Amino acid sequence: MSAPLRKAIDAEGHDLPPSPAPSSPHGARRYNIATELVYTESNDQYNASSVPIYQSATFKQASHEGGGEYDYTRSGNPTRTHLERHLAKIMSAQRALVVSSGMAALDVITRLLRPGDEVVTGDDLYGGTNRLLKYLSTHGGIIVHHVDTTNPDKVKEVLSDKTAMVLLETPTNPLIKIVDIPTIANATHEVNANALVIVDNTMMSPLLLSPLELGADIVYESGTKYLSGHHDVMAGVIAVNDLSLGERLFFPINASGCGLSPFDSWLLMRGVKTLKVRMDQQQSNAQRIAEFLEGLGFKVRYPGLKSHPQYDLHHSMSRGSGAVLSFETGDVTKSERIVANAKLWAISVSFGCVNSLISLPCRMSHASIDAKTRAERAMPEDLIRLCVGIEDVDDLIDDLRRALVQAGAVNVTMDGIEAGTPQSA
Ligand code: PLP
Repeated sequence: MSAPLRKAIDAEGHDLPPSPAPSSPHGARRYNIATELVYTESNDQYNASSVPIYQSATFKQASHEGGGEYDYTRSGNPTRTHLERHLAKIMSAQRALVVSSGMAALDVITRLLRPGDEVVTGDDLYGGTNRLLKYLSTHGGIIVHHVDTTNPDKVKEVLSDKTAMVLLETPTNPLIKIVDIPTIANATHEVNANALVIVDNTMMSPLLLSPLELGADIVYESGTKYLSGHHDVMAGVIAVNDLSLGERLFFPINASGCGLSPFDSWLLMRGVKTLKVRMDQQQSNAQRIAEFLEGLGFKVRYPGLKSHPQYDLHHSMSRGSGAVLSFETGDVTKSERIVANAKLWAISVSFGCVNSLISLPCRMSHASIDAKTRAERAMPEDLIRLCVGIEDVDDLIDDLRRALVQAGAVNVTMDGIEAGTPQSA
């Protein structure tokens, strides 16, 4: 039974945020997110504190007529269901579905498309997203429009009654550009009420951004990143409020078998409980590092910096700045040397992990976008991406400073260091 809307102290004496729905098994949140991330209810027969892993492909039925809640893990598994209900609550969604990777989540979503359908999306997308959309346009008869989604007018120019999906990422990766979700969602639904607005929320996580509350129809995330936090599992999450849409999305999961395995569901469940403490630390570290690099004179892209051209827009939608930033050195060779010299910063694709990562997007995560397209999309080849972890921030800054000096990317002066070509170089 749904809990009544509360304005202040409720009948049991709790002063909790208003919520129209029970805390479980699914629906909107009842407590603040830090509480909901760790608080779970289950009907486990032994009241296990950690959800049991039902490592079973099949479930016996009482008779040939079946009728059991579960029969075959491709269709459903209790560990996966527990996680899906927990995530639905955290994502303020009516239904969440978990699959084997973030890309599997997008694959499931794009199975709603039919030949001739049009997709409007950004020009600074995650490389894997770009690759899947390219495949659909060459093999599936889907027309994809890549536009600058940070300018809603550019999106409006290509919207039509053929638009089936508008696919957004914010902040974009690695250029850290901000997309106005409410404005684009309204414009899309005005032009075509049936078009679905989809947001890839991987960079922000449900802690910092709730796209469904901003007008999106579907939100998906790579659970490989902040949700799990330790780079020990691949996962993807899809969340919706429209239950019939949820059923349409469940169909390809059941049909193809990309639902998350019981053990990986358990790992993701364990990871998600610490999302708040991890992200708080990662964000405050990222802010200090962005200020350090900007203070040296580098061009830094981070929504936590007042110099970010879309600072106000980002903070009108989000509850924080995240922990991914990028900066330019002006020289590809120097960027390569910085990456090679950093010791605490692991050279790795991906982000959202407890340890800090450094990468050259044009050579790594975005290498699947050809050089010509990268140039058309104004992606600087010397761009370095930093994905900040939970380490001591002074150690991280010290390691970065040493790497910058060794790479010759800064001038060492009497007063310290500053961006620029060293005199001796
Ligand atoms: N979306 C974004 C923004 C990503 O960065 C990634 C992976 O890096 C994905 C989706 C794909 O997620 P996965 O690697 O879990 O398939």
